Amino acid sequence: MPLLKLSDECFYRSSIIRDNRKEIITVNKKYNSNRMGKQRVLSGVQPTGNLHLGNYLGAIRTWVDMQENYDNFFCVVDLHAITVPHDPKTLAQDTYTIAALYLACGIDLDHATIFVQSHVTAHSELAWLLNCITPLNWLERMIQFKEKAVKQGENVSVGLLDYPVLMAADILLYNADKVPVGEDQKQHLELTRDIAIRVNDQFGSKKNPILKLPEPLIRSEGARVMSLSDGTRKMSKSDPSDLSRINLLDSPDLIKKKIKKCKTDPIKGLEFDNKERPECNNLLGLYTLLSGKSKEEVATECQDMGWGQFKPLLTETTIEALKPIQDNYQAIMDNKDYLDSVLRDGKEKAETVANQTLSRVKEALGYLPPL
Ligand code: ATP
Ligand code: MG
Repeated sequence: MPLLKLSDECFYRSSIIRDNRKEIITVNKKYNSNRMGKQRVLSGVQPTGNLHLGNYLGAIRTWVDMQENYDNFFCVVDLHAITVPHDPKTLAQDTYTIAALYLACGIDLDHATIFVQSHVTAHSELAWLLNCITPLNWLERMIQFKEKAVKQGENVSVGLLDYPVLMAADILLYNADKVPVGEDQKQHLELTRDIAIRVNDQFGSKKNPILKLPEPLIRSEGARVMSLSDGTRKMSKSDPSDLSRINLLDSPDLIKKKIKKCKTDPIKGLEFDNKERPECNNLLGLYTLLSGKSKEEVATECQDMGWGQFKPLLTETTIEALKPIQDNYQAIMDNKDYLDSVLRDGKEKAETVANQTLSRVKEALGYLPPL
C-alpha cells in the first residue's frame, strides 16, 4: 500500500471527527481484531450467469491462492448484474449459485467474508455520491461500456455507463488495498483510483485522506481467457452463445461437446504465442493452467500434436479439474440453510466496514448527520 502509509486504525482515527466517534472507533477495533494487521482485498463477480473458466482462472483462483495473506471481502455484485437486460426469475438463484461457487472453489470463511452487494445499501448510496463527483467524460471513455453498449443499441441504460462508479464504490467502501481481477477490469481500477484521488483532493487533505487508493492485482497467466468460438474475444458470461465458454458446472458430456466444437485452425503442431493462431494459444493456455504443468512442458508435449489428439486431452483435463468444484458445489447447495447463514454473517460484517466509510465520506461532503 505505497500511497497511504498510515495504518488502518490511524487512518480511521485521523478522519473521525463526529460526535459518535467513540462508537465508530469501538466498532473499528472490534473488526480489526479479527484479522489484525492484514491488508484488505475486495473483489466480486456478477450473477449474470454461471461462472466460467475465465472467471475462475482470471479471478477466483487468485482469491483462493492468496486468501491467507489478506483480510478478504468477496461479494456477489448483483447491482451490477442489472446494468444489462436481466431476467428477474433467475437473479436470486444465480446469486446463490455464485456465492456457493465461491465456497466450492475454496474460499475459506476463516479468511474471507462472502456477501451479496445489494444487501449492503451503502454500495448504492456511495455510488450516488461518487456520481456527483465523477466527470461524465471519464465514463464515456470506458472500453467495457463501449463494447457492451454496442450490443444494446438504443436500449443502453444509464446504469451501464455508471457501472464503473458503482464498482469504485464497492472497492472504496472497504478501504481495499488490493483488487484481484482479470485484465478486462484494469481500466475500471484505474478509474477507481482517479475517483478516490479527486474525492481526497476536493474534500480531504494530505493528512486526512478520505478514501484509500486500491491497487489492481492481475496475474500474468489466465488474466484473459478467450472465447471458444473466437480467440480474439474474451470468454464472457454475457456472450449469447453458451458454446463460447466452459462453465464451472458444465457436465462432462457438455464439456466434451464444447471442446469438440470449439474453433481451431488447420495447422498441425500446436504452439504458444503465435499471433496468427489466437485459438491455439488460448487452448494451450487453458490446458497449462488446468493441468498444473509448466508452459515449457506443455509446449514440448504438444508441439507435434494435431487437434484430434489434443482435444480429448484437454477435455479429460478440464473434466478432472472441475470435478472437485462440482462435488463441493452440490454439497453446499444441498444445505441452503448453511449458505443463507454465510450470507447473513457476511452482510453484517460487510455493513460494519462499509457504513464507516460512507459516514466518513458524507461527513467530508458536509452532510447533516442523522439527528
Ligand atoms: P459479463 O459478460 O456479464 O460482464 P464476465 O464473464 O465478464 O461477465 P464478470 O462478473 O464481469 O464476468 O467478472 C468477474 C471477474 O472475472 C472479474 O474479475 C473479471 O476481470 C474476471 N473475468 C471475466 N472474464 C474473464 C476472462 N475471460 N478471463 C479472465 N478473467 C475474466
Ligand atoms: Mg464482465
